[in-house]
Amino acid sequence: MTDSGKVALVTGGNKGIGFEVARQLAQADHQVVIGARTDERGRAAAEKLRADGVEVSYVVLDVSAPDSISAALEVVAARYGRLDVLVNNAGIAPAEGPPSEVAPEVLQETYETNVFGLVAVTQAALPLLRLAVAGRIVNLSSGAGSLTVVGGPDWRPEWNGLAYNTSKSAVNAVTVAFASELRPTPIKVNAVNPGYTRTDMSPGADRPAAAGAAVVVRYASLPADGPTGGFFDENGAVPW
Ligand code: NAP
Repeated sequence: MTDSGKVALVTGGNKGIGFEVARQLAQADHQVVIGARTDERGRAAAEKLRADGVEVSYVVLDVSAPDSISAALEVVAARYGRLDVLVNNAGIAPAEGPPSEVAPEVLQETYETNVFGLVAVTQAALPLLRLAVAGRIVNLSSGAGSLTVVGGPDWRPEWNGLAYNTSKSAVNAVTVAFASELRPTPIKVNAVNPGYTRTDMSPGADRPAAAGAAVVVRYASLPADGPTGGFFDENGAVPW
């Protein structure tokens, strides 16, 4: 089956993993809309891809601002009339100390973007996803969202981030909840850990953003018999 003409929205698509997801989906013949917090960042990202011969459009979309979400989805509706792929990529990982010292504002801010924003975008996008033949939702999770991994012996103590890690565990739970509701429909909802990837969020990582993006694109392009309600990385299923 060809992906030609499929419409994809990538939140936080102006840089990092989201930017590479946008590139790869566009190269796979999707009509990609980059969501960016500002017009300037969206335009710059689209121009950068255009310079590489990759055409995408962009929309201003701050996932923590309800008005911005509804305005962005109205633009997608007016431009395309449906949405085939939603990549909930936007996320933050603020500096945080040990769990006993995390300021409530840090917890609040992290959840506003990583969890509440993701839910709000998904809810706003669902009417358009239901109009697609085979809607796909990919939620960016993390190994840090796996209770098994974080609670295991190999997890690094300096990565014991209360706000970020638990927000990604919540993303996993949100993924299962939407997947359960949508199981009678063709829409598939999965959580993906792109792996420890070199971006502004993780400058110390070795893995290029394109490699992290490839895992996301795989689950954005699942066939009809693919999984839903799962949690995956490049090697397959990740324990919850
Ligand atoms: P990044 O380079 O920091 O990019 C994050 C993107 O999210 C940026 O485009 C940023 O926009 C956007 N964003 C942040 N808050 C937003 C908001 N309120 N509304 C809309 N967009 C917002 O990080 P990344 O490494 O590519 O991360 C992408 C996703 O992968 C995140 O969900 C992250 O948790 C997940 N992840 C990353 C790694 C890793 O090692 N890098 C590992 C596991 C999971 P601005 O440019 O405006 O800030």
